This record gives sequence, C-alpha cells and structure tokens, in this order.
Amino acid sequence: MNRKAFIRRGAAWVMGAVVSTPAAFASSGGREHYMDIPSSIETVEIGGIKIHGIMTGLVKVKRSHRNQSLGISAIIVDPSWTAWMPIYTWLIEHPEGLILIDTGENAKVNDKNYFKCDQINGFVYRTILRFKVKKNQELPAQLKKLGFSTDDIRWVVLTHLHLDHVDGVQFFPNAEFLLSSVENRQPTGNVPCLLPTWFAPRTIDYQAISLAGFDNGFYLTQAKDIVLLPTPGHTYGHQSVLFLNNESPVLFAGDATFDQEQLLKDKVAGISADKKAARDTLKRIRTLGSDTPLIYLPSHDPYSATRLVQSSSLVV
Ligand SMILES: [Zn+2]
Repeated sequence: MNRKAFIRRGAAWVMGAVVSTPAAFASSGGREHYMDIPSSIETVEIGGIKIHGIMTGLVKVKRSHRNQSLGISAIIVDPSWTAWMPIYTWLIEHPEGLILIDTGENAKVNDKNYFKCDQINGFVYRTILRFKVKKNQELPAQLKKLGFSTDDIRWVVLTHLHLDHVDGVQFFPNAEFLLSSVENRQPTGNVPCLLPTWFAPRTIDYQAISLAGFDNGFYLTQAKDIVLLPTPGHTYGHQSVLFLNNESPVLFAGDATFDQEQLLKDKVAGISADKKAARDTLKRIRTLGSDTPLIYLPSHDPYSATRLVQSSSLVV
C-alpha cells in the first residue's frame, strides 16, 4: 500500500471509529470507564416496585470541582476537565404514587441567552460546567416512553437546587416538590431566576428516626419505605432518598459524591459547600452500607444505572 492510500485508509478508520461511537461519548476524553454510560432509561424491579434510572444528558466539570481542591476560585482557573458524566434522575413506581427524584437538565441550557436573568452566576456556570442535552433526553419525552405524562408524578424530591437537578422543574407544575428546609433557607450555587415563578416546594424538617448511620429523616410514604435523609456537605441542605425493602435497599444519593469510589475512599469533592459535613455524610452512608446490602446511586456516577440493574450493593 502506498503512503497516500495508507493515510486514506487510516482516516477512514478514524472516521469510522468516530461514527460508531455513540455521539454522547465521542469527545469524552478522560478515563476510559466513563465511556460505557448506559443511555436513556434502565429499569429494574426491587421488592415488587419498579425503579427507572433516566439519564437526562451529560455534564462535565473541572477536575478540581470533582476532586479534592481549594474550592471555587481553584475551580474557575483550573484548565482541566473531567470526562462526560451522566445526569441521572430516578423514577419510583410506588403504589402511593409516582416519585421522581430530581428533574435533570433541559436542552436549552446551552442557549446563548440561557443565563440572561443572572449574568454573574451565568458567567460562573459557563466557566465551570459543560453540558450535552438533547430535547429527547428531557423528562417529558422520556416519561412518555415509559407510558407516563408529567402530570402523573405525585412527588418530586429535590436533592438540592443545583441547575442540573432542577432545570426540569418547569415540566411538573402539578407535582408536590420536596426540598429540605435548610436547602430552601441557605442554598449555594443555585440560580433562582431560572425556576418557574410558581415553584413553591414543601420544605422538610427531619424527625428522629432509627437507622444505621442516621438519627434523622423524613418518611415520605405511609408505608415508611421511602425516607428522605439529610446528607449535607455538597450543599448545606443536600438530601438523599432511601428506598427500604427486603431485598436491596437503594440510596439515591444526589451529589453526596460524584461516584461510589469517592464514597469508599472517603474523598470529598472540591465543590463541597461544607467539607466537614460532607465527610460526616460519607461516614454515615458507609455505616448504613455496612448494615444492609445498599445500592448506592449518585446522580453523576457512570456506573449508577448498571449497579441498579445488577442490584450491586456496596461492600464497605
Ligand atoms: Zn450539585
């Protein structure tokens, strides 16, 4: 083969590789295990209840945002990015009503004027976050695929107010939103003007409960199988959702950590509003995981949906 033909064939191979790589991951760049994020919807039945992991797009952040660092100023000047990470929301088909955990992103997040209502926060977010979100990844389209409309959702639990968790709030004017009262009072890194004017969440104050690692929580369901747990650190009022059942309890952990490895290795992310509280939260979750076979599902862990489908629990 002459040199020109070789180069042509090489170019064709490269193009072929790009074409055959799912568009979402084509420029993911970073660690290889981030390449196998399951797409769209993964469904499993645990304890007789169906749970869906719904990916509403991809996000990447600065490495100093995800890893240990000095905080926001270090993050802004950091030139290095993580690989693309999923933005998961979770739907529980509970007999007492459909429960949605977080609302994910919307496709408009990349519009030029998206942050025009808050230029300062907009500048910060444009500097520290990158998104890939398509219209068909927004929740209304994905819920429709599951046979539901947005009006079918009874409760939307928000883990916290960061935009990749609340930019889909607009789609659920008829749901009851649940937010921790601390997050409502003392949010960090949120952009209030992006939320619909009708948004008025029910704020949650936790009560004494008795669970390994946790002495406070809020039972959402009459069956007492869905428990909101305070997991502060990422933000002051961050909360997680625990689904108790006789098979494998599931913890929908929001941004308590970016992935399971950070939990097991006790790594607190640079973006944390309160690193001491974040470390205490990780300890509590590990205690819970040592007491029961806990499936741990952070919102941005590329392996979360796989662990859910395989009922793969923490080994603490
Ligand atoms: Zn967050």
